Amino acid sequence: MTDTTNDAPETGITPGGTTGPFRDVLSRDHARRGKPPLHFADMTPSQRAERAKELGMPAFRAKQLANHYYAHFDTDAAEFTDLPAAVRADAAAAFFPELIHEVTRQVADAGTTVKTLWRLFDGSLIESVLMRYPSRTTLCISSQVGCGMGCPFCATGKLGLTRNMSAGEILEQVRAAARMMCDGEVAGGPGRLSNIVFMGMGEPMGNYNSVISAVRQICALPPEGFGISARNITVSTVGVVPGIRRLAAEGLPVRLAVSLHAPSDELRDELVPMNQRFDTTQVLDAAHDYWLASKRRVSIEYALMRGINDQAEHARLLAKRLNHYGDNWAHVNPIPLNPIEGSKWTASKPEDEARFLDILHAAGITATMRDTRGQDIDGACGQLAAKERG
Ligand code: SF4
Repeated sequence: MTDTTNDAPETGITPGGTTGPFRDVLSRDHARRGKPPLHFADMTPSQRAERAKELGMPAFRAKQLANHYYAHFDTDAAEFTDLPAAVRADAAAAFFPELIHEVTRQVADAGTTVKTLWRLFDGSLIESVLMRYPSRTTLCISSQVGCGMGCPFCATGKLGLTRNMSAGEILEQVRAAARMMCDGEVAGGPGRLSNIVFMGMGEPMGNYNSVISAVRQICALPPEGFGISARNITVSTVGVVPGIRRLAAEGLPVRLAVSLHAPSDELRDELVPMNQRFDTTQVLDAAHDYWLASKRRVSIEYALMRGINDQAEHARLLAKRLNHYGDNWAHVNPIPLNPIEGSKWTASKPEDEARFLDILHAAGITATMRDTRGQDIDGACGQLAAKERG
């Protein structure tokens, strides 16, 4: 496990985003907010053993705690009957400070979609969405408070970046969802959390160390992690090329999703400001290299916006750019945009969506319209948090 406590950026500014043509867009209340309390999930095994020793506990107690946390999704140390009663309160305070506190829970799709708004130690708000399907249950999680990428059509982008989340804060979303599934709190009865997507608030590559520490703890087998297969984890990015290359070098078979949203630099410069730093050629080259290294097909996310990027010429150019690399290496997910109220960016017409998909298919590109679960509960990323703040 990586120790993320020392080298995480203190200001939350995205590494690499402080120089060059692109700078992170910071939120009004961006400031040094102190670090989240250190949590069991933030500690290396030796830090855990050390802390146990400080509490007068033998080192093997840390392994018992790991079993409670990763195998049973428990953090209530007061209830850990395999610990001596005298140390339970100390263990709770030392290892399991409350990092995320539920503010609201919204349910949709006949109880199979659950969106939770969480408050963090400094009052920051983030969200996660649990989506149950017949054959899998997917949790979409946040990795930053807000997002500094500044995409003009996105509710989270409007908030700007407040700060990076710690590995513990990221993982607590996973543990809480795994617990909800285990306890049968989602329609369909008790079940297992099977898939994780880093597609909630934030740019995961902007918080690389915490994200990769979280990924490793999600896929390690209990008692080192939650035991969710790395193949069922998706890490998304708006195109932070050094992050894509670093992830490829980790050798983990996680899926990469690239939010492209436009097939040309001219258009993407407007829709995704990060394109001014890493252009479409650099992003697609890195994504294709990821496919070569991981043999996992890359997801290309493409939010369809009426009259902006959803015309036949856009679909044709997208197909051409992907086919340039050959070998059926990408899977395009056009997403109907869930628009921000009052913005000029709005959802495509159904006939334009259908034509877009048809053109890709005719060019031999694998493409499926992405499911828009949770639309009736403010499903676009960041909208719920924006509302609570406003
Ligand atoms: S679309 Fe994604 S990268 Fe762009 S501002 Fe929104 S959350 Fe950030």
